[in-house]
Amino acid sequence: MRAVGRLFAVFPVVAVLWLVHGAQAQTPSASPFPAPLKSAEPKSADPAQKPSKPSRSRASRPKAEPGAPVPQPDTDTGRIAPVPMEAFAAEADPQPANETAGKPEEPSACQLRVADKIAVIEPLPSLAGPGDCGATDVVRLEAIIQPDKSRVTLSPPATMRCTMAEALANWVREDLTGTTAQLGSAPRTLDNYASYDCRGRNRVAGARISQHGLANAIDVRGVHLANGRFASFTDRKLDREFREAVRKSICERFTTVLGPGSDGHHEDHIHMDLAERRGGYRLCQWNVLDPAGEVPLPRPRPKEAP
Ligand SMILES: [Zn+2]
Repeated sequence: MRAVGRLFAVFPVVAVLWLVHGAQAQTPSASPFPAPLKSAEPKSADPAQKPSKPSRSRASRPKAEPGAPVPQPDTDTGRIAPVPMEAFAAEADPQPANETAGKPEEPSACQLRVADKIAVIEPLPSLAGPGDCGATDVVRLEAIIQPDKSRVTLSPPATMRCTMAEALANWVREDLTGTTAQLGSAPRTLDNYASYDCRGRNRVAGARISQHGLANAIDVRGVHLANGRFASFTDRKLDREFREAVRKSICERFTTVLGPGSDGHHEDHIHMDLAERRGGYRLCQWNVLDPAGEVPLPRPRPKEAP
Protein backbone atom coordinates (compact mmCIF):
# COMPACT_ATOMS: atom_id res chain seq x y z
CA MET A 1 0.00 0.00 0.00
CA ARG A 2 2.88 2.30 0.74
CA ALA A 3 4.15 1.79 -2.74
CA VAL A 4 0.78 2.69 -4.19
CA GLY A 5 0.58 5.74 -1.97
CA ARG A 6 4.02 6.87 -3.20
CA LEU A 7 2.88 6.31 -6.77
CA PHE A 8 -0.09 8.62 -6.27
CA ALA A 9 2.18 11.16 -4.63
CA VAL A 10 4.67 11.08 -7.52
CA PHE A 11 2.17 10.91 -10.37
CA PRO A 12 1.13 14.58 -10.41
CA VAL A 13 4.79 15.63 -10.50
CA VAL A 14 5.55 13.29 -13.37
CA ALA A 15 2.46 14.47 -15.21
CA VAL A 16 3.42 18.10 -14.84
CA LEU A 17 6.99 17.38 -15.92
CA TRP A 18 5.72 15.48 -18.95
CA LEU A 19 3.41 18.29 -19.93
CA VAL A 20 6.04 20.97 -19.59
CA HIS A 21 8.76 18.98 -21.27
CA GLY A 22 6.45 17.85 -24.04
CA ALA A 23 5.36 21.38 -24.73
CA GLN A 24 8.96 22.63 -24.83
CA ALA A 25 10.08 19.83 -27.05
CA GLN A 26 7.39 20.75 -29.52
CA THR A 27 8.17 24.42 -29.56
CA PRO A 28 11.11 24.48 -31.96
CA SER A 29 9.47 22.44 -34.67
CA ALA A 30 5.88 23.52 -34.24
CA SER A 31 6.27 27.25 -33.68
CA PRO A 32 5.98 29.22 -36.86
CA PHE A 33 8.18 32.08 -35.59
CA PRO A 34 11.79 31.03 -36.05
CA ALA A 35 11.44 30.07 -39.69
CA PRO A 36 10.26 33.40 -41.15
CA LEU A 37 12.83 35.25 -39.07
CA LYS A 38 15.62 33.16 -40.52
CA SER A 39 14.49 33.48 -44.08
CA ALA A 40 14.23 37.26 -43.74
CA GLU A 41 17.78 37.66 -42.49
CA PRO A 42 20.22 36.79 -45.24
CA LYS A 43 19.41 39.70 -47.51
CA SER A 44 22.80 39.40 -49.13
CA ALA A 45 21.92 36.01 -50.53
CA ASP A 46 18.84 37.34 -52.25
CA PRO A 47 19.40 37.47 -56.00
CA ALA A 48 16.78 40.22 -56.23
CA GLN A 49 19.29 42.48 -54.49
CA LYS A 50 21.54 42.53 -57.54
CA PRO A 51 20.88 46.11 -58.57
CA SER A 52 22.16 47.52 -55.31
CA LYS A 53 25.53 45.85 -55.67
CA PRO A 54 27.63 49.00 -55.57
CA SER A 55 26.14 50.04 -52.25
CA ARG A 56 26.44 46.53 -50.88
CA SER A 57 30.04 46.44 -51.87
CA ARG A 58 30.66 49.56 -49.87
CA ALA A 59 28.86 48.15 -46.88
CA SER A 60 30.77 44.90 -47.02
CA ARG A 61 34.21 46.45 -47.21
CA PRO A 62 35.17 46.28 -43.58
CA LYS A 63 34.14 42.63 -43.46
CA ALA A 64 36.24 41.77 -46.45
CA GLU A 65 39.36 43.35 -44.99
CA PRO A 66 39.25 43.09 -41.22
CA GLY A 67 42.67 44.69 -40.95
CA ALA A 68 41.61 47.74 -42.86
CA PRO A 69 40.71 50.90 -40.97
CA VAL A 70 37.03 51.34 -40.32
CA PRO A 71 35.54 52.78 -43.51
CA GLN A 72 36.67 56.36 -43.10
CA PRO A 73 35.92 57.70 -46.56
CA ASP A 74 32.73 55.73 -47.03
CA THR A 75 30.61 57.19 -44.35
CA ASP A 76 30.16 60.70 -45.62
CA THR A 77 28.19 62.08 -48.45
CA GLY A 78 27.94 60.14 -51.63
CA ARG A 79 26.24 56.86 -50.91
CA ILE A 80 22.63 57.92 -51.16
CA ALA A 81 22.45 58.20 -54.89
CA PRO A 82 23.59 54.93 -56.47
CA VAL A 83 21.15 52.63 -54.77
CA PRO A 84 17.87 54.11 -55.95
CA MET A 85 19.31 54.93 -59.35
CA GLU A 86 20.41 51.41 -60.11
CA ALA A 87 17.36 49.92 -58.49
CA PHE A 88 15.03 51.89 -60.73
CA ALA A 89 17.07 51.11 -63.79
CA ALA A 90 17.11 47.42 -63.04
CA GLU A 91 13.38 47.32 -62.45
CA ALA A 92 12.98 48.31 -66.06
CA ASP A 93 14.70 45.11 -67.13
CA PRO A 94 11.73 42.74 -67.30
CA GLN A 95 9.76 45.18 -69.48
CA PRO A 96 9.45 44.44 -73.19
CA ALA A 97 12.37 45.79 -75.18
CA ASN A 98 10.45 48.59 -76.96
CA GLU A 99 11.15 51.33 -74.44
CA THR A 100 13.73 50.07 -72.00
CA ALA A 101 14.79 53.46 -70.71
CA GLY A 102 18.31 54.05 -71.87
CA LYS A 103 19.24 50.43 -72.16
CA PRO A 104 21.22 49.81 -75.31
CA GLU A 105 19.42 47.31 -77.48
CA GLU A 106 22.51 46.40 -79.45
CA PRO A 107 25.80 45.62 -77.77
CA SER A 108 28.23 48.50 -78.25
CA ALA A 109 31.42 48.09 -80.25
CA CYS A 110 33.27 47.99 -76.95
CA GLN A 111 31.01 45.28 -75.58
CA LEU A 112 31.61 43.21 -78.71
CA ARG A 113 35.37 43.54 -78.22
CA VAL A 114 35.22 42.65 -74.55
CA ALA A 115 32.38 40.21 -73.83
CA ASP A 116 33.51 36.61 -73.44
CA LYS A 117 36.83 37.48 -75.07
CA ILE A 118 38.76 39.34 -72.43
CA ALA A 119 36.14 39.72 -69.71
CA VAL A 120 32.83 38.53 -68.34
CA ILE A 121 30.52 41.53 -68.51
CA GLU A 122 26.84 42.13 -68.21
CA PRO A 123 25.36 45.16 -69.99
CA LEU A 124 23.56 47.56 -67.69
CA PRO A 125 21.09 50.35 -68.42
CA SER A 126 22.53 53.82 -68.87
CA LEU A 127 23.00 55.82 -65.70
CA ALA A 128 21.42 59.27 -65.59
CA GLY A 129 21.68 61.68 -62.69
CA PRO A 130 21.25 62.85 -60.07
CA GLY A 131 23.08 66.00 -61.00
CA ASP A 132 25.95 65.48 -63.37
CA CYS A 133 26.31 61.81 -62.58
CA GLY A 134 25.70 59.36 -65.36
CA ALA A 135 27.15 57.27 -68.13
CA THR A 136 26.24 55.29 -71.21
CA ASP A 137 27.56 51.92 -72.34
CA VAL A 138 27.70 50.76 -68.74
CA VAL A 139 28.56 47.19 -67.82
CA ARG A 140 28.97 45.09 -64.75
CA LEU A 141 32.47 43.67 -64.88
CA GLU A 142 32.48 40.32 -63.16
CA ALA A 143 35.76 38.75 -64.22
CA ILE A 144 38.68 39.13 -66.56
CA ILE A 145 39.41 36.24 -68.87
CA GLN A 146 43.10 35.48 -69.08
CA PRO A 147 44.73 34.35 -72.33
CA ASP A 148 44.84 30.82 -70.86
CA LYS A 149 41.07 31.10 -70.16
CA SER A 150 41.50 31.21 -66.40
CA ARG A 151 39.65 34.04 -64.69
CA VAL A 152 40.48 36.90 -62.40
CA THR A 153 37.28 37.84 -60.63
CA LEU A 154 36.31 41.30 -59.48
CA SER A 155 35.21 41.29 -55.87
CA PRO A 156 32.61 42.62 -55.75
CA PRO A 157 31.74 43.00 -59.45
CA ALA A 158 32.39 46.53 -60.69
CA THR A 159 29.97 48.90 -62.39
CA MET A 160 31.74 50.99 -65.03
CA ARG A 161 31.76 52.15 -68.62
CA CYS A 162 32.69 49.42 -71.03
CA THR A 163 35.81 51.31 -72.10
CA MET A 164 36.99 51.43 -68.49
CA ALA A 165 36.29 47.71 -68.08
CA GLU A 166 38.26 47.06 -71.25
CA ALA A 167 41.23 49.09 -70.01
CA LEU A 168 41.16 47.29 -66.68
CA ALA A 169 40.95 43.87 -68.34
CA ASN A 170 43.87 44.65 -70.64
CA TRP A 171 45.91 45.88 -67.70
CA VAL A 172 45.30 42.66 -65.75
CA ARG A 173 46.00 40.42 -68.74
CA GLU A 174 49.00 42.20 -70.14
CA ASP A 175 50.66 43.78 -67.12
CA LEU A 176 49.47 42.70 -63.70
CA THR A 177 49.74 38.99 -64.39
CA GLY A 178 53.38 39.30 -65.38
CA THR A 179 54.04 41.52 -62.39
CA THR A 180 52.55 39.17 -59.80
CA ALA A 181 54.83 36.49 -61.24
CA GLN A 182 57.56 38.46 -59.44
CA LEU A 183 55.81 37.38 -56.26
CA GLY A 184 55.70 33.80 -57.47
CA SER A 185 51.96 33.60 -58.07
CA ALA A 186 49.09 34.52 -60.37
CA PRO A 187 46.26 36.98 -59.77
CA ARG A 188 42.94 35.43 -58.83
CA THR A 189 40.71 38.19 -57.44
CA LEU A 190 41.01 41.91 -57.90
CA ASP A 191 39.80 43.85 -54.92
CA ASN A 192 37.18 46.38 -56.05
CA TYR A 193 37.16 49.03 -53.35
CA ALA A 194 34.79 51.35 -55.25
CA SER A 195 33.58 51.68 -58.82
CA TYR A 196 30.49 53.63 -59.90
CA ASP A 197 29.45 56.01 -57.16
CA CYS A 198 27.68 59.35 -57.58
CA ARG A 199 29.72 61.64 -55.40
CA GLY A 200 31.92 64.70 -55.32
CA ARG A 201 35.65 64.31 -55.52
CA ASN A 202 36.93 62.56 -52.43
CA ARG A 203 33.34 62.43 -51.27
CA VAL A 204 33.16 66.12 -50.58
CA ALA A 205 29.61 67.22 -51.30
CA GLY A 206 29.50 70.01 -53.86
CA ALA A 207 33.02 69.35 -55.07
CA ARG A 208 33.59 68.81 -58.77
CA ILE A 209 32.15 65.50 -59.79
CA SER A 210 34.38 62.51 -59.33
CA GLN A 211 35.10 60.21 -62.23
CA HIS A 212 33.38 57.59 -60.08
CA GLY A 213 30.12 59.47 -60.75
CA LEU A 214 30.75 59.04 -64.48
CA ALA A 215 31.42 55.31 -64.12
CA ASN A 216 34.90 56.00 -65.38
CA ALA A 217 36.99 55.03 -62.35
CA ILE A 218 37.86 52.26 -59.97
CA ASP A 219 39.61 52.15 -56.61
CA VAL A 220 41.66 49.07 -55.92
CA ARG A 221 43.54 48.06 -52.79
CA GLY A 222 45.32 45.05 -54.17
CA VAL A 223 45.00 41.59 -55.59
CA HIS A 224 44.42 38.16 -54.09
CA LEU A 225 46.90 35.67 -55.49
CA ALA A 226 46.56 32.00 -56.33
CA ASN A 227 48.88 31.15 -53.44
CA GLY A 228 46.43 32.65 -50.97
CA ARG A 229 48.35 35.86 -50.33
CA PHE A 230 46.85 39.31 -50.66
CA ALA A 231 49.20 41.70 -52.38
CA SER A 232 48.26 45.18 -51.24
CA PHE A 233 49.55 47.81 -53.64
CA THR A 234 50.08 50.23 -50.77
CA ASP A 235 51.66 47.82 -48.28
CA ARG A 236 55.03 49.34 -47.47
CA LYS A 237 56.36 45.96 -46.47
CA LEU A 238 55.51 44.35 -49.78
CA ASP A 239 58.30 43.93 -52.31
CA ARG A 240 59.16 47.40 -53.54
CA GLU A 241 59.99 46.34 -57.08
CA PHE A 242 56.56 44.76 -57.38
CA ARG A 243 54.81 47.93 -56.23
CA GLU A 244 56.89 50.06 -58.55
CA ALA A 245 56.08 47.82 -61.50
CA VAL A 246 52.37 48.00 -60.68
CA ARG A 247 52.57 51.78 -60.42
CA LYS A 248 54.35 52.09 -63.74
CA SER A 249 51.87 49.89 -65.59
CA ILE A 250 48.80 51.60 -64.13
CA CYS A 251 50.16 55.06 -64.88
CA GLU A 252 50.81 54.05 -68.49
CA ARG A 253 47.25 52.88 -69.05
CA PHE A 254 45.08 55.26 -67.02
CA THR A 255 44.98 59.03 -67.23
CA THR A 256 44.54 59.68 -63.52
CA VAL A 257 46.29 57.60 -60.89
CA LEU A 258 46.22 58.57 -57.24
CA GLY A 259 47.89 56.68 -54.44
CA PRO A 260 49.80 57.30 -51.21
CA GLY A 261 51.22 60.78 -51.02
CA SER A 262 48.76 62.25 -53.56
CA ASP A 263 46.17 64.05 -51.46
CA GLY A 264 45.74 62.18 -48.19
CA HIS A 265 42.66 60.33 -49.42
CA HIS A 266 44.50 57.51 -51.14
CA GLU A 267 46.87 56.14 -48.55
CA ASP A 268 45.36 52.65 -48.54
CA HIS A 269 44.18 52.24 -52.11
CA ILE A 270 44.88 53.26 -55.68
CA HIS A 271 42.44 55.32 -57.71
CA MET A 272 42.57 54.94 -61.47
CA ASP A 273 40.37 56.53 -64.11
CA LEU A 274 40.19 57.47 -67.76
CA ALA A 275 39.39 61.18 -67.39
CA GLU A 276 39.99 63.09 -70.60
CA ARG A 277 41.92 66.31 -70.28
CA ARG A 278 42.99 68.99 -72.67
CA GLY A 279 46.25 68.18 -74.35
CA GLY A 280 46.14 64.59 -73.15
CA TYR A 281 47.45 65.66 -69.74
CA ARG A 282 47.91 62.75 -67.35
CA LEU A 283 48.19 62.59 -63.61
CA CYS A 284 50.27 59.94 -61.87
CA GLN A 285 50.57 60.71 -58.16
CA TRP A 286 51.60 57.67 -56.19
CA ASN A 287 54.64 57.51 -53.99
CA VAL A 288 55.93 53.98 -53.53
CA LEU A 289 56.91 54.24 -49.88
CA ASP A 290 59.54 52.50 -47.81
CA PRO A 291 58.49 50.65 -44.67
CA ALA A 292 57.37 53.12 -42.00
CA GLY A 293 60.16 54.34 -39.79
CA GLU A 294 62.81 52.99 -42.09
CA VAL A 295 64.73 55.93 -43.47
CA PRO A 296 66.86 54.97 -46.44
CA LEU A 297 70.54 55.50 -45.67
CA PRO A 298 72.41 57.96 -47.85
CA ARG A 299 74.61 56.24 -50.35
CA PRO A 300 78.32 56.19 -49.44
CA ARG A 301 80.06 59.17 -50.88
CA PRO A 302 82.22 58.14 -53.82
CA LYS A 303 85.92 58.94 -53.33
CA GLU A 304 86.19 60.91 -56.54
CA ALA A 305 83.20 63.11 -55.70
CA PRO A 306 84.00 66.79 -55.40
ZN1 LIG B 1 38.69 56.71 -56.54
